[in-house]
Amino acid sequence: MLRKVGVLFLVLTLIGCEQQSTSNDTDAAVVADTILENGKLYSFAWDEPSVEGMPASNAPVAGTVWTPDGEAIAIKDGNILATGSTAEIAAYKGADTNVIDLMGAYMLPGLVDSHTHINELGATFDNVDLFGVETEEEAAQRVVDFVAENNIPEGEWIVARGYDEGKWADKNPTYKIITDAVPSNPVYMDGATGFSAYGNKMAMDAAGIIRDAENPVGGIIVRDESGDPTGEVRNRGVTLYRNAIPELNAQQWKRRLGNGLNEMAKAGFTTVHQAGAHTPMMDAFEAMEEEGALPIRVYAMISGRDKEQMDAWRASGPKRYESGMLFINSVKGYYDGSLGARGAKLIEEYSDSPGTIGVSGKDYGFFVNEIGAMVQAGFQVNIHAIGDGGNREVLHFFRDNFEKNPELQKNRHRIEHAQVVHADDFKLFDDLDIIAAVQPPFVAEDKLWTVDRVGEERAKGAYAWRTFRRNNVPLSFGSDLMGYDWNIFYGLHSAITRKSKNLEAGDGWYPDEKLTAEEAVRGYTTGAAYAAFLEDKTGTIEAGKWADITVVDLDVLNVGEQTPADLFKGNVLMTIVGGTVVYKK
Ligand SMILES: [Zn+2]
Repeated sequence: MLRKVGVLFLVLTLIGCEQQSTSNDTDAAVVADTILENGKLYSFAWDEPSVEGMPASNAPVAGTVWTPDGEAIAIKDGNILATGSTAEIAAYKGADTNVIDLMGAYMLPGLVDSHTHINELGATFDNVDLFGVETEEEAAQRVVDFVAENNIPEGEWIVARGYDEGKWADKNPTYKIITDAVPSNPVYMDGATGFSAYGNKMAMDAAGIIRDAENPVGGIIVRDESGDPTGEVRNRGVTLYRNAIPELNAQQWKRRLGNGLNEMAKAGFTTVHQAGAHTPMMDAFEAMEEEGALPIRVYAMISGRDKEQMDAWRASGPKRYESGMLFINSVKGYYDGSLGARGAKLIEEYSDSPGTIGVSGKDYGFFVNEIGAMVQAGFQVNIHAIGDGGNREVLHFFRDNFEKNPELQKNRHRIEHAQVVHADDFKLFDDLDIIAAVQPPFVAEDKLWTVDRVGEERAKGAYAWRTFRRNNVPLSFGSDLMGYDWNIFYGLHSAITRKSKNLEAGDGWYPDEKLTAEEAVRGYTTGAAYAAFLEDKTGTIEAGKWADITVVDLDVLNVGEQTPADLFKGNVLMTIVGGTVVYKK
């Protein structure tokens, strides 16, 4: 009888604690899996700042000085159990609790990059790097090491790149050394400038580089005295090898995406939004989810360039995996070109190219009907728009769709980049509840030629973050990697200063549009969470939410406000996703 009461009491205590968990009550009956202690926590669980950037009355700031609002976090089953002082959180310690001493480091809500191309980042790991190799032996050794490190199965193509063709001009590399070193995989060895290359025996056979082969137009198959190919090709001859390399298989896609995601984990990101994933990529993300192989969370957008893929998803409907690691309920649309290349659609001609207004919509390959059907089917649709004309047309596209069904306006549609917006159109973002998914690094890197392209007046509506805020337009931040550096300290610096890495003098580019340090962090946390319908799960560090935490060695709020140039000294120390440490410096 006594025992039964005991068990019942324990159950009640557990339930009780669960209900109270938001109040940070400590309860010795609940034991944490993991405790982070002796740190400095910025939970961001206080209210949002005003549209002018003024912190909320319950924010832990006095004047311009921020004070961390906790020291420790208790984690159980992937979620945050409680936050508080190190002493308070010690109550959750049990014999098996993994206690991590942060030694004064700063805890932030898990960072989100809401516009990435993870495939491009992962692709940088696909090839063997031959930069700086002096000899064929050294080049072959790099390939041998790559095969071992990546467990490349026999038969799979290996591409190595970057030996110095100028320095190697008299070497005349052949298939022999690389074939001896790597006999069981086709290997393609490409020079740094792509005008000469060689391969091993398997690659030569696959590429048809045999005794009877003729030189391709504009290219040479190098031969020995007896007329046999040596494996080396020049100029257009490289296409023989390149055409023989097959499309990535499922395994290779997973490896590429895994490499990209791990790199983002190292950079402190707990979630990425993949801005367009065609079918092979989406299949790989889903396979990785099923295998438990996603190191960080992925919010993957269906490709608006792939009609078949859109048809298939419209039939099956959105998919938000219970694991919380993969979400497929949005579509990436591509509406106009880039400002740099004068492809972005402007309402009036380019300032530096009379008669040019850019390209948009159908002319740019935007499938109005098919993407409209995705809006109508209830998907969130996130459309790339750069120019003020492109942005206006996309806003009208949404407006037309909402007229058919006003309910669809609730689906948090986004304009990706929202780079140059006409003064009259900011309000339309608000009226239509469109999120501006912007990339702070753009202003740091593109500002010099932005004025050339659009002139001083239109530039006032470029990267106009404060104006968006004043119009109650939610912001979500990202990098658009690989095009731009995804380092979080760089992103924050861009948002706060509107300056480049060169730290140029002055007050920053169109300084009225600067954001505060708090707003900058929120773009990568609360704002990005909202843009993915995940504000109940992440964005702040609060009991009941996922234990997604980024640990850094720098006080981003105070440094960001007071000496933002010092943000570049920051390092990511640890990345925690659902209570699991996925990266530790
Ligand atoms: Zn992009």
